[in-house]
Amino acid sequence: MDISGPKPELLDRFAAIVGENHVLRDQQDLAPHLIEGRGLYQGSSPMLLKPGSTQEVSAILKLASETGTPIVPQTGNTGLVGGQTPRTGGNDLIVSLERMNRIRDVDPVANVLVADGGAILADVQKAAEAVNRLFPLSLGSEGSCRIGGNLSTNAGGTAVLAYGNMRQLCLGLEVVLPTGEIWDGLRRLKKDNTGYDLRDMFIGAEGTLGIITGAVLKLFPQPVGHQVALAGLNSPEDALKLFERASNLCGTALTGFEMMPRIGIEFTTRHIEGVRDPLSDPHPWYALIDISTSDSAETAQTMVQALLEQGFEAGLIRDAVIASSVAQQKALWHMRESMSDAQKPEGGSIKHDVSVPVSKIPSFMAEADKAVMTAVPGARICAFGHLGDGNIHYNISQPLSADMKADKAAFIARWREVNEIVHGIVLAAGGSISAEHGIGQLKRDELAHIRSPIEMDLMRRIKRAFDPAGIMNPGKVLVP
Ligand SMILES: Cc1cc2nc3c(=O)[nH]c(=O)nc-3n(C[C@H](O)[C@H](O)[C@H](O)COP(=O)(O)OP(=O)(O)OC[C@H]3O[C@@H](n4cnc5c(N)ncnc54)[C@H](O)[C@@H]3O)c2cc1C
Repeated sequence: MDISGPKPELLDRFAAIVGENHVLRDQQDLAPHLIEGRGLYQGSSPMLLKPGSTQEVSAILKLASETGTPIVPQTGNTGLVGGQTPRTGGNDLIVSLERMNRIRDVDPVANVLVADGGAILADVQKAAEAVNRLFPLSLGSEGSCRIGGNLSTNAGGTAVLAYGNMRQLCLGLEVVLPTGEIWDGLRRLKKDNTGYDLRDMFIGAEGTLGIITGAVLKLFPQPVGHQVALAGLNSPEDALKLFERASNLCGTALTGFEMMPRIGIEFTTRHIEGVRDPLSDPHPWYALIDISTSDSAETAQTMVQALLEQGFEAGLIRDAVIASSVAQQKALWHMRESMSDAQKPEGGSIKHDVSVPVSKIPSFMAEADKAVMTAVPGARICAFGHLGDGNIHYNISQPLSADMKADKAAFIARWREVNEIVHGIVLAAGGSISAEHGIGQLKRDELAHIRSPIEMDLMRRIKRAFDPAGIMNPGKVLVP
């Protein structure tokens, strides 16, 4: 890493591309861009550039390649693995697409929407809604994360079960390559078998292969019927059985099936304003069930009632509630989406964003719980997530103690050790150590151990082919 950093004259050349009004140089202004949400990574940078067009992004990357200047793309800065954070002690320049936030086109007949890479996800959802269409990607961070970041992390969210993750929601891309060349791949085709799929290379690449400046996204009809229910359960085994019934009964109308533990409900009701436990008695586990139908509202109603009846009859459900208004539906989802935030006031939390084949969720949970409790007696496991996708956010809050503050540091210091325990069980079950959030800095070193030498070699060859000067987000995903 070049710690001397770019000379002031070079920084001025970068600034001239976007205009001094669109540059941050003051360390106080830069501060929010140098740290990621959980405070796990704190980087350094002499400058942040806000280009206003694809051509300006191209000029920045051309100059960066010519001068060997490292570049970090950043959009909403909500990533959870430090991919958007410049390296600690380095001189990476940050390129933010926050000015490139336009919806370029919406075509409800072809069911496509074209957006800038810096368009905010919530604005894309609203633009789709305005023409009676649905853009189904939905995340807790949707008010601030942006399409370039969603694509670069291949974001998942709450509706993957029915609509897929960002890779499935994208038809075409516009990308500026590290050399400054512009690839216009803004195709609107569902069928296009013409050679290697370049689009798929950039989705999930976490900004290491180029900067995504535009995207063609898929839209869907707005659902006509929508029902959300919360069921109290005994165990992850029962949650899995209920999920199987829900899949059989609802088919593609099953848009979400989330699992939450009692401790998660306690954390949210304790710390998140306005969250109430909608069931009168506590239950060990909960399933949040989301059903959307495109034919009629009655179909969704019939489905949710039939599912709950079946669940009660089979002894899978202890108690349940169906949201009776849109506000109640939102409140149930809010409870689920606040689960991560609700852990913060409970002290240190060691996180895992893992996936296993759906049918192995109960055995994975049992094995992981046993191993974690042996390693960290008193640990408070708050494992929740997208059961239908096999994706569990296996989060562990620090044990309760007399001095929570002092013990937090000691607990967090065990992050890697605990990760190794949980990830070992995940890998033995044929799972993935990063289901949604990516690799970034957080899992970079681990990736090299869990992927085969041929896979790592292919990834390095792809990186060299796209980024021969090695300027794009160095130190992320792959060990330099
Ligand atoms: C409260 C909360 C809830 C979340 N829930 C989910 C969830 O349910 N599912 C899920 O999958 N994720 C979730 N996330 C994490 C998720 O990765 C991000 O919210 C989002 O997808 C990242 O978008 P962003 O614009 O903030 O990207 P950033 O954080 O700015 O960047 C993320 C990565 O993409 C790269 N990048 C950014 N923009 C570009 C670009 N234009 N071109 C190339 N590379 C780029 C960055 O270098 C970095 O590596 C959540 C995060 C939070 C804070």
